[in-house]
Amino acid sequence: MAVNSHQAAVAERTPVTAWDAQGVRRDFPILAQRVHGKPLVYLDNAATSQKPRAVLDALLDFYTRDCSNIHRGVHELSERATAGYEEAREKVRTFLGAREAREIIFVRGATEAINLVAWTFGRERIGVDDEVLITAMEHHSNIVPWQILCEAKGAKLCVTPISDSGELRMDEFEKRLNPRVKLVAVAHVSNALGTVNPVEEIVRMSHARGIPVLVDGAQAAPHMKVDVQELDCDFYTFSGHKVYGPTGIGALYGKAALLDEMPPFHGGGDMISSVTFEKTTYNVLPYKFEAGTPNIAGAIGLGAAIDYVGRIGMERIAAHEHALLEYGTRALARVPGLRMVGTARKKAGVLSFVLEGIHPHDVGTVLDREGIAVRTGHHCAQPVMDRFRIPATTRASLALYNTREELDALAAGVWKVKEMFA
Ligand code: PMP
Repeated sequence: MAVNSHQAAVAERTPVTAWDAQGVRRDFPILAQRVHGKPLVYLDNAATSQKPRAVLDALLDFYTRDCSNIHRGVHELSERATAGYEEAREKVRTFLGAREAREIIFVRGATEAINLVAWTFGRERIGVDDEVLITAMEHHSNIVPWQILCEAKGAKLCVTPISDSGELRMDEFEKRLNPRVKLVAVAHVSNALGTVNPVEEIVRMSHARGIPVLVDGAQAAPHMKVDVQELDCDFYTFSGHKVYGPTGIGALYGKAALLDEMPPFHGGGDMISSVTFEKTTYNVLPYKFEAGTPNIAGAIGLGAAIDYVGRIGMERIAAHEHALLEYGTRALARVPGLRMVGTARKKAGVLSFVLEGIHPHDVGTVLDREGIAVRTGHHCAQPVMDRFRIPATTRASLALYNTREELDALAAGVWKVKEMFA
């Protein structure tokens, strides 16, 4: 797809050394608005992040110029749409450091990716008395699919506990790696705590015992450089909408040898090679797992998002967000009665906290009146809340366009909550 003038301007402006915070913010039109009369401070990025104009343009370009179904047309528009979709796959391949484009399956998001693995790989490989090993910090989407599978198969879901700071207990993890474990499924980064898990070590220990590993990268892919070959994980998942791309699109990476031997997930158009009423043979990778008309525009938009973060550089984004995380942690620590939930030594982008005697929903409501968007609740990680014996937290989560001034506004907002509820 042609580089439009805005994309060229972004590329030209991309700073080589200094972080151009205002330049980055200008790339995200939604951020310029006021909410309840105050400048919007968007700190709900772990739920979904905002989209740069490059992504909006890519969606508009697709629907105004190239809209057509893919893979089956001989006409020009279909060829353009197919090329855009497959280019996006190649961008995801590079983004994740995968060896081959056929190892990238487009899905709706991390949730669908995990369900896909549960209902193909899991269905084949997990039987009576087998175990699936997860952790106590998983998002519901990396718990429930395994629970459903285990129930159906007579298998057992086992859980590695976490420490008071929200770190995975690696000693306990090792204890649970026994011959019955047929899959380890673990978050790269916890959405509720921000903990970065030692995924490489987890993979090494699991592989030493012949156990494959799925990594839920939904909260890692937006914040750090991911290299699936370096991690050596067997499956890796992420959602486009958290990486500045559209909703309804994400990717599953799987090692080709595993994907090849797995049965299909959904049946339908495009995933077949031939169909008779007696027998269907399946298409090659990755199409075997992409039944029906996919989210073509979404994939192209995700490709544009990957280009966008690539122009800035994932390492620079990680460094910027890390500095913000430290700044925000210090600012919030000054508020009396505030307790941070999740204080792991290695963290990414998440400030989850409770205020003594004040319900997180009240915190969120007051902050909203200040134009500050945070999330309150259990963050689809109820077992994490149970572990810390709290019903909910207030969670501020960071993205590349956030600034220190916004974290000052957050801290000031929390002080205001304290005054109101004192
Ligand atoms: N895993 C983690 C760690 C997440 O934070 C999320 C989204 N909050 C998901 C999985 C599910 O992502 P999605 O809803 O985009 O499928």
